[in-house]
Amino acid sequence: MSYKITLIPGDGIGPELTEATVRVLEASGVDFQWDVQQAGIDVMAECGTPLPETVLESIRRNKVALKGPITTPVGKGFRSVNVALRKSLNLYSCVRPCKSYDGVPVTFRNVDIVIFRENMEDLYAGIEFELGKAETLELITDIERLNGNKILFDSGITIKPISITNSNKILRAAFEYAVKNNRRKVTAVHKANIMKYTDGLFLHLAAEMALQYPQIEFEDRIVDNMCMQLVKDPTQFDVIVLPNLYGDILSDLCAGLVGGLGVAPGANIGDEYAVFEPTHGSAPKYKGMNKANPMAQMLSGVMMLRHLGEYEAANLVEKAMAEVIAEGKYVSYDLLPLNDRARAVGTAEVATAIIERMQNA
Ligand code: NAD
Repeated sequence: MSYKITLIPGDGIGPELTEATVRVLEASGVDFQWDVQQAGIDVMAECGTPLPETVLESIRRNKVALKGPITTPVGKGFRSVNVALRKSLNLYSCVRPCKSYDGVPVTFRNVDIVIFRENMEDLYAGIEFELGKAETLELITDIERLNGNKILFDSGITIKPISITNSNKILRAAFEYAVKNNRRKVTAVHKANIMKYTDGLFLHLAAEMALQYPQIEFEDRIVDNMCMQLVKDPTQFDVIVLPNLYGDILSDLCAGLVGGLGVAPGANIGDEYAVFEPTHGSAPKYKGMNKANPMAQMLSGVMMLRHLGEYEAANLVEKAMAEVIAEGKYVSYDLLPLNDRARAVGTAEVATAIIERMQNA
């Protein structure tokens, strides 16, 4: 069977990681027809937008996409293409496994956490009111009129919506995953002590949902405490479910616990479409240097293979990657101790080593 997949190389380090990933996925024996679509900072000039409609059309047609990272200008410029993709395609679950592989220099062994991050709303939804704009001043006046809270007129405002609909979708996804994958526990993360009407709602819904899954242990943690608990002993956690912004932040924290962003894959999944992409960004300083670790994107490809039902190919690729990491000879700089990085190999060489392992399996 041949799979038609939308392939978005992205920008920054995206194209070189995508090329390495495609080589490895094709070596698994699965037949792909890549529908290559350009998005990101490099197509702005040509297309007038970093997310041409043709990209979304391609994903709607093919249902599945593999994507490299895409730059979002900080504090100015265009809004996040990544957020736009997730929202336009209703990809409400962001699934990010953080698993420790033998050979990576880390403090904790046996970390195996899967993050379920709500992808559609929260402070991350991009509902913003700019400093000094008429609508911002009107909103400030309305807020004082409606609930008595004074906001200074020299403020910018970002809105944090948390709905029953979207919370239940991510909660359902997390518990269903736990059941199907023999996981023991789901931890809901929030700041419900302070944000009672948003995080409080999320927590309430999580506790209600947990009642439907008596075989899964359920607990909750306030997000600041959760950060401390994670760095003290991450092995106590299993499946973590949380609103969008905390999910974004804790994804990087958990990636750090298992060796860094170079080994942290991800998937954005909705009822109709799925887009697989690493947790990390476009790391522009490494663009075109054949230096960045392609493994996070390759592991996103492994998640995609499993999503397609290609379990044997997925296991073949993941096993070869684990062996290459454990051997430690053909790994990128980030998987080596600081004093031993001179012997790191490049992005393309990592792919070659993995392919050789697969061929000798
Ligand atoms: P980043 O993830 O790009 O990089 C942070 C640091 O992590 C890098 O400097 C590098 O040291 C390390 N790193 C990241 N990926 C690596 C890899 N594959 N191999 C080795 N080391 C790696 O985060 P940032 O610098 O905060 O963001 C850069 C841009 O990426 C921003 O424009 C941001 O908005 C965007 N971004 C995009 C996505 C996405 O496409 N889904 C996700 C996060 C950030």
